[in-house]
This record gives sequence, structure tokens and C-alpha cells, in this order.
Amino acid sequence: MTTTQVVNPATEEVVATVEAADEAATDVAIERAQQALPGWRAVAPGDRARLLRRFAEAVDADLENLAALEVRNAGHTIGNARWEAGNVRDVLHYSAGLPERLLGSQIPVAGGVNLTFHEPLGVVGIIVPWNFPMPIAAWGFGPALAAGNTVVLKPAELTPLTAVRLGELAARAGLPDNVFQVIPGRGSVVGARFVTHPAVRKVVFTGSTEVGKQIMAGCADQVKRVTLELGGKNANIVFADADVERAAATAPYGVFDNAGQDCCARSRILVQRSIFDRFLELLEPAVRGVRVGDPADADTEMGPLISAAHRERVAGFLEPSTKVAFTGSRPDGPGFWFPPTVVLPSSPADRVVTEEVFGPVVAVLPFDDEADALRIANDTEYGLSGSIWTSDVGRALRVSRGVEAGNLSVNSHSSVRYWTPFGGFKQSGLGRELGPDAARAFTETKNVFIATD
Ligand code: NAP
Ligand code: MG
Repeated sequence: MTTTQVVNPATEEVVATVEAADEAATDVAIERAQQALPGWRAVAPGDRARLLRRFAEAVDADLENLAALEVRNAGHTIGNARWEAGNVRDVLHYSAGLPERLLGSQIPVAGGVNLTFHEPLGVVGIIVPWNFPMPIAAWGFGPALAAGNTVVLKPAELTPLTAVRLGELAARAGLPDNVFQVIPGRGSVVGARFVTHPAVRKVVFTGSTEVGKQIMAGCADQVKRVTLELGGKNANIVFADADVERAAATAPYGVFDNAGQDCCARSRILVQRSIFDRFLELLEPAVRGVRVGDPADADTEMGPLISAAHRERVAGFLEPSTKVAFTGSRPDGPGFWFPPTVVLPSSPADRVVTEEVFGPVVAVLPFDDEADALRIANDTEYGLSGSIWTSDVGRALRVSRGVEAGNLSVNSHSSVRYWTPFGGFKQSGLGRELGPDAARAFTETKNVFIATD
């Protein structure tokens, strides 16, 4: 076994040392998960529901501890971290409503009865990134467990602490042994084994488009089921008929939340040309007003980036020729800090316009009319989320239907509710998580015909 040192990104101090599983340990965990499968499948729907409710209650009782762990491990603001732990609780409660509602159908046929069943897939492997360690894990394991699958979960090397704690809470809540296992380790070892091990019947991956493509290609070998939640280059489209003050005041929070390390970050702001200058005048104080600092302070709105390497990657998007309109603040001293940064690109081909930065950098671009706005918004290989600011309800709906993305918000920047579907168009992903169909994604439909003649 090798170990990984976990670093607090706000202080650069080592906060924990975690054992990293090798391939043999991963195989042992997968085999245990496979052995636990018949027992878990046989738990009556109402009892499975009750166990998930107990798991939710254990998370709720531990909410402050989980949130504090995420502040230390990921540099998330305490306000966000509390929401994230609460989201795990809520996803579990919602998932607890699914076992008794995995309804099949009875389809009219001649000479018999035809029934459909939603059978569990088997062992599900979940690979989690470092940007939202708790929610992204729960969006997979909640519905997967509800549907009768067993789960092996690999947290990101940088952020394993809350996942390990969730594993302990599941056991404390009474989930049977090996139904839900957390396996910290390297992506190229543990995550890659989820792809190649034949007992793992589905891989749920959230992370970079580059690794997502490798996983999809690897899964093809066994026709393994896969859900992918990948990157985004999301547009926040502000029309001249919008409440421009509100659009400008909220735009920073649509992109700088979690220091921009969010696949839903609205990292391109498209502004109708007639209000472009006024919007920038309003945006400047809003950006300067973002409170960047100690994530444990309840008033802080933005913390540090996750690592030194990631800060370097983000900084690499600002080339000497890049026109920075204005920036917000950042603390001095240790920590992987980066100020909120607003860029006026010189060309639509600039990397800062076309690539996912995954940091607090936003590009502001003008557009002429509705058709132009849609053309620019869709001029990307991604299609995850986006916002539309307008007071014209017809335009709001036309543009919502026109943007090639899975999660849109009108006069708002919210993308995620555990009871509505979430996922991407184009290279932002494959499949959907959350919402009423969440458990279905962890089942196969089986059709059974029974002759009565
Ligand atoms: P990444 O490499 O895609 O990592 C995501 C997860 O996949 C981690 O748990 C990682 O393990 C694992 N992994 C890495 N290589 C693997 C492989 N060959 N097989 C199976 N699993 C593997 O992402 P990253 O390097 O952390 O971040 C790079 C960029 O990806 C970011 O800057 C951002 O643009 C994008 N990103 C997007 C999201 C999103 O929410 N869509 C999340 C994170 C990153 P390790 O812990 O060992 O790396
Ligand atoms: Mg990587």
C-alpha cells in the first residue's frame, strides 16, 4: 500500500495521510461487492428504503463534521460545504423513495401476460473528481443503492476525506457489509480497474472530458454501461431587455462560486451590444465585491483553488496578450489563491473562450441579436448548462430551446436540484443523473412473457 498526503489548499498544510489502494486491493473490494449483491438485492424494497433513510439521518447528524472536513480538504467555503453535506442527505432521502417505486409495466399481449422488471445491474463503480466530492458521490451511490446495486467508489486523490467518512456513516446506519465501499487511490489504478474488471457492470464518471473519453473507450470492450459528466463552457446570455442590474450583480456568483471549479460555471458572459458598456460598469464593483478568503469564515464567498498544479494551469490561460478588464481580490500568504478575473477576449478562438478554465476566470463577449447569441453560445464542443437573462417570456423559451445544453436557467444561475435531471449535451457527457429517473439508470429492463393458454 502506498499513501497520499491530503493538503489543505487554503494553508498548504498536510491535514491527513490516506492509504491508496493498489490493483490487488481494488480487486478484493470489487469481489466483495459482487458477493454482497445477492443479499442486497433480496432486501425487501421497504427495508432497503428504511436503510437509505437511516443513512440520510446519519449524514444529517454528522453534517457539521462533514462540512468542516470539506473546508479543510477542498477549501470550500463553510456555507457551500454545509449545502453539499445537506445535498448528500437530501439525495439519500429522495433515493429512499425509489425502491418501492421502481415500477414495471404490464403490456397487453395475445395468449398471455407480459411484464417488465427493472433489474439491478450488479456492481457499480463510481469515480469522483475533487471539485464537489460529496454531492457527485451521492448522485451516483444514492440511486444505485436504491435500485439494488452494490457500489465501489473512488474519490479523487486530492479529496478523499468526506468520502471515507460517508463510508463509515453508511456502515453505522446499518447498510450490510460491502454494499457500499470507498476505495481511495489513483485514477490510473483504482478507477482504471473499474473499467477493466468484468464484475463492475457500470462506471459512473465525473471529471475531465479527456479521461471521460478514455473511460468510454475502455468500457466499450465489455459493452459496459457508462454515465459521463464532463466539462462545460457555459454561456450566461444577457439581453438588453433584462434586469441588467440584477444580471450584473449575480454574474460573478454564476462563475466564481467554488472558485470557478464547477462544470456548470458560466465562464462566458454574452452581452447584447447595446448594453455592453453599461453591463461592464455594473459588473466591475460586483466582481471587486466578491469576498475571497478564509473558507472557514461564514462571510467568505470564494476560497482557494484545489492545488498548486491547478493554479498554474488556470494562470496559463492568461497570456501576455490577454486583455484583463478587472480583477477582484485574493489574500496574501500561503494557499492556492487566484483572484476573480474578467477578460475581454480579442478573438472567439482565444483559449479562454473555447476551453474550460475551471478557475475564477470569465470571458465577456458582445452579441448583436438573438440568432447571434445562440450562434456564439452553441459554438463549443460542450453543452452542460447556461443562463438566459431577459424579461421577454417568449424569448426566454425560444433561447432555452435553442441552446444546446442540458441544464438552463432563466433569470437565475441555478442548475442543480436533486429532484430534476442533470447532465450534458455533446461532449459534456452521456446520460443523466438525479431526478425521478435516477434509479432507472442503474437498472436493465427485463421483459417477461407468460403464456396463459
Ligand atoms: P480527471 O483526471 O478527469 O479526474 C477525475 C477523476 O478521475 C479522479 O478521481 C481521477 O483520479 C480519476 N481518473 C484519472 N485518470 C483516470 C483513468 N485513467 N481511469 C480512471 N479514472 C481516472 O480530472 P483532473 O485531472 O482532476 O482535472 C483536470 C481538468 O478536468 C480540470 O481542470 C477541469 O477542467 C476538468 N474537470 C471537470 C470536472 C467536472 O465536474 N466535470 C471535475 C474535475 C475536473 P485521481 O484522483 O487519481 O486524479
Ligand atoms: Mg487528471
